Amino acid sequence: MSTVNQKHRTGDLARFGGAKTFEFVRGTPNLVRPDIEQFLTYSREFFEARRYTNGGPLVRKLEARLARLHGVKYCVAFSNAFWAIVTTIKSLALDGRTELVMPSLTYRRLADIVSWTGLTPHFCEINSKTLAMDPEFAIKAINEQTALLLAPHPIVNNCDVAGMEALSKETGIPLVFDSVESAMESYRGRMIGGFGRAECFSMHSSKLLNGFEGGYVTTDDAELAEQLSYVRGFGFANEDKVVALGLNAKLNEVHAAMAHAAIDDLPDQIERNRGRYHLYRSLLENIPEIRLLEFDENEQRCFKTIVVELLDTWPLSRRETIDLLHAEGALVRPYYSPPQHLKKMAYSTICEDLRETERLAERFLLLPCGEHVSEEDIREVVGLLVFMKAHAAEIRTEFKGGAL
Ligand SMILES: *Cc1c(COP(=O)(O)O)cnc(C)c1O
Repeated sequence: MSTVNQKHRTGDLARFGGAKTFEFVRGTPNLVRPDIEQFLTYSREFFEARRYTNGGPLVRKLEARLARLHGVKYCVAFSNAFWAIVTTIKSLALDGRTELVMPSLTYRRLADIVSWTGLTPHFCEINSKTLAMDPEFAIKAINEQTALLLAPHPIVNNCDVAGMEALSKETGIPLVFDSVESAMESYRGRMIGGFGRAECFSMHSSKLLNGFEGGYVTTDDAELAEQLSYVRGFGFANEDKVVALGLNAKLNEVHAAMAHAAIDDLPDQIERNRGRYHLYRSLLENIPEIRLLEFDENEQRCFKTIVVELLDTWPLSRRETIDLLHAEGALVRPYYSPPQHLKKMAYSTICEDLRETERLAERFLLLPCGEHVSEEDIREVVGLLVFMKAHAAEIRTEFKGGAL
């Protein structure tokens, strides 16, 4: 099945008429598949109890389990991270203020999520080392209208958690982390989940824990946890008593069953991810023009996503590189690109100087990763990159010659 070895000339690339490397696409969503028997065993529990949703036994156990894993007192499960984030921001934002500080180079729909809170996203510049929000730049976006700081972790490693916490303390502005990309990782030896006022996570099938869809909030704040649990379920405190303006964003039992099975598999998943990451790392050593973003293995890491930087010495543009790989069936993705402030929005936003964001947004690429990507596939992907480098001059001529 090794097709890279069958490419000899530029014309053998699928983009220029050759055979595709991958018949079925290899992408970047995680799509882990926990043991189906495990999933069915959990599912029987709620099915036999006829408790399908509204805080059934599996959701309750899941919340306790996640709180334990994150080392926090409370976990509140949601139908997805979207409503987990909206509800958390609504509960913590300072009254009467109108803006929320966040980076532009992050999850591409995060500003949309924020817009549902009624606050205006105020984009700050990012740190070029961590690719994330940090206090030095966040402070420039803070003013008398700032209601909340929303700090998303980058895909590889973490943002400056301690720095952001200090900034929050200094300014009195509440800090919430979007920790979707740092789930089950640690910061200075302590599990992510207990920092800031609250942290939000996703269990969408593309993320670390596959609950089909799902999300949750972790916090040590009892009052916040109680408020969140009311709001996610129509505002009900009990059978008949409504204590808050609610919405319906509950996690149901079948999703919780899947999430339990995914947690059972997590240690094995991390080992499989580590294997793929180490293979990429050793193969990419042969291509000095491409820099792999390395995980800090002094901390707990999950190795889910492979991010590389195309250095200035890489002979093709990122657009050309993506085109060639997509044609081969390798669905590589530009890293959070274009950044959110360059997109058309249905709401208004405020921008600081984002030159560094715009420069960085052009340099990074996610390579195929996740459960459906085998060692052989990784060899193929890196083999393609080696081939592209060797034939770069000819490839550029082909692109210029109207082959586009
Ligand atoms: C996927 C993602 C979300 C949204 O999660 P859903 O559960 O799909 O709503 C939010 N933030 C980040 C960083 C994400 O990657």
